[in-house]
Amino acid sequence: MRLVLLGPPGVGKGTQAERIRRTVAVPHLSTGHMLREAVRCGTETGRKAKAILERGELVPDTVVGELIAERLASPEAAGGFLLDGYPRNIAQVATLDGILARMGIGLDRVINLFVPDEEVLLRLTLRRSCPSCGAIYHLSFRPPAREGVCDACAGKLEQRSDDREEVVRARLGVYREQTLPVAEIYRKRVILVEVDGTGSADDVAGRVARALRDVAA
Ligand code: AMP
Repeated sequence: MRLVLLGPPGVGKGTQAERIRRTVAVPHLSTGHMLREAVRCGTETGRKAKAILERGELVPDTVVGELIAERLASPEAAGGFLLDGYPRNIAQVATLDGILARMGIGLDRVINLFVPDEEVLLRLTLRRSCPSCGAIYHLSFRPPAREGVCDACAGKLEQRSDDREEVVRARLGVYREQTLPVAEIYRKRVILVEVDGTGSADDVAGRVARALRDVAA
């Protein structure tokens, strides 16, 4: 299955992507995660991207295009993939179209998760994550057993620097201006499914599974 997960920051793409990855056994390719890893490891890409991520703006298309092309060409993606956070603007749709055309494949489905802006703010400003294993927590809805410590690997939990309120508002603006038109393109191609992202992670996972049922059939 070849899937794209779209939606505003904080809609739960990371959480749902992990669930989809477990049920349909395709690799989860998150450009946000790749970029944060590059920053953490201090690679050249990471040095270029760091300040941009901290402002909540988009990293140049060529930088993410290279990251994604490399991962899509790797053997792990041969049987399908789940793209999370890519494509994020119209130029990236064209880049992805080109990569997939050269590989002779197409997308099966684009899932568009949606929640109101106020819920995004509540979710993100209280979000904490584990930089070691990627586990995600929420101080109100899914707190770790021990404050500040990852349940899965005992790593020290952190707040992403781009989850501060002013940066979240900037990311929402970027989403509205640049990423909403991406959903429109896929809607016209009749591969977009809209999924309500409100409620518990289980509720949303149930809706996503229903949306994917006809693809698997
Ligand atoms: P995310 O984890 O998907 O919310 O992404 C975190 C940050 O990484 C974004 O705010 C952007 O700065 C950057 N980023 C992730 N994906 C892309 C992309 N496809 N194009 C440009 N920048 C991206």
